[in-house]
Amino acid sequence: MRRLLMHSPIAVALTWISAYLFVTLFPLLLLLLHPMPVERGFWVEFSVALGFIGLALMVLQFVLTARVNRIESSYGIDILLQFHRYSSVVALVLVLVHPVMLFITKPETLQLLNFPQAPWRARLAVLGTVAFLAMVVTTIWRKPLKIAYEPWRAMHSLLALLAVGLGFGHAVGVGYYLSLFWKQVLWGGLILVALWLIVYVRLVKPWLMTKRPYVVESVMPQRGNVWSLVLRPLGHEGFTFQPGQFAWLTLDITPLSMREHPFSMSSSGDRPDQLEFGIKALGDFTSQIQTVKPGTKAYLDGPYGVFTTERYWNSAGFVLIAGGVGITPIYSMLLTAAERHDDRPFLLIYAAPSWEDVTYREALEALKATLDLTIIYVLRKAAEDWSGETGYIDRDLLARHIPIHRGSRQYFICAAPAMMAAVERALLALEVPVTNIHMEHFNLA
Ligand SMILES: Cc1cc2nc3c(=O)[nH]c(=O)nc-3n(C[C@H](O)[C@H](O)[C@H](O)COP(=O)(O)OP(=O)(O)OC[C@H]3O[C@@H](n4cnc5c(N)ncnc54)[C@H](O)[C@@H]3O)c2cc1C
Repeated sequence: MRRLLMHSPIAVALTWISAYLFVTLFPLLLLLLHPMPVERGFWVEFSVALGFIGLALMVLQFVLTARVNRIESSYGIDILLQFHRYSSVVALVLVLVHPVMLFITKPETLQLLNFPQAPWRARLAVLGTVAFLAMVVTTIWRKPLKIAYEPWRAMHSLLALLAVGLGFGHAVGVGYYLSLFWKQVLWGGLILVALWLIVYVRLVKPWLMTKRPYVVESVMPQRGNVWSLVLRPLGHEGFTFQPGQFAWLTLDITPLSMREHPFSMSSSGDRPDQLEFGIKALGDFTSQIQTVKPGTKAYLDGPYGVFTTERYWNSAGFVLIAGGVGITPIYSMLLTAAERHDDRPFLLIYAAPSWEDVTYREALEALKATLDLTIIYVLRKAAEDWSGETGYIDRDLLARHIPIHRGSRQYFICAAPAMMAAVERALLALEVPVTNIHMEHFNLA
């Protein structure tokens, strides 16, 4: 029983939260150990403490984004990235409050802002803060600033390293709390962990992936401008996954295309020998999929994600709500359920621009023969003789179709952000418990 509790998802998630708080606060406690600096007044010490907590939070951002499988499988990438965003903003606020508090309590420190004449330790602080600010601004306003994803990602890593490195340099330069060698080693160790994580994710992991290549078996057009990319493992057994999970895909097409993109597997989770992805041609990488030749090498980092029916094995049934290409993880759930002869009821509510755009339409209809599957198509543009649902998925439409006993099902939503937000609101209004609603966002940043 104790063993079971220790390994329950909640216990694991709580352990990670405790570890996070420990790493945030422990270096601060250590810094307070002997020798204490000469008394400088409460507000100065408080402002310095905020600066150190800000720095520790910055270091922890590298852990949150390093795709550590065990952490990721406790929360899911959506929640981790959401937490990454919020905790970065908290760190930035702390880093900004730290000098402001100093300037207010000791106005003479304002002269540290005179960059040409300021000592190095102050210059490092200014540069580190500017790097941090630039990183947050270019992330929050990436789209209005028209920064493409790939250059943004490279810039994000660089600015993050700069902000942490300069912040640490500033703390060592000031010296008060880091005057002892072992304290510098402790903080230096934290910075090295951050550096290692970035090297691991960007260099070591891609290199490990090249040891387990895949080969493109076929590329097939589907309805809705989606292309099925079928991969076969080359010289290894591939991986099994929980239906609904995703992997980072790299295609060996041109040096420019040696970049990884996340895609949900659309095939059965129990077929590691043949992994399939449904990819909608939207941007520069996804538009190239249709031209990929069979025999092209591919590399996968995965599986990741908690958007899966597998975690709810005791649910009485499922309500799956998809918009457009958001059908891919849901299709995998249905395929896997069919192969496992799952006899629970599945309700699929599927929004598409038109009948001709319904991706996997024929295959979904065929699944009705093996599954207890009801499909409600919701078309934005329907032919005159269409007698089904039209328009958008809203509260009334959901009320017409979802079971009366709303808490008896698990609900999975994957669609464009606006549709997901609207469907979530509608489900909550219909008294679906928030813990029964699961969402997968296709836009990470
Ligand atoms: C968990 C998850 C599962 C996904 N599953 C599917 C799927 O099954 N089918 C499908 O068609 N799409 C899926 N996507 C979306 C897919 O990853 C993006 O459409 C694709 O990366 C866009 O790349 P692009 O260069 O063609 O488009 P661009 O026009 O360059 O980018 C469009 C947007 O896609 C995102 N994006 C671009 N490059 C990357 C990248 N390297 N990593 C992360 N995000 C990026 C950014 O938000 C960007 O603004 C999924 C996304 C996530 C996060």
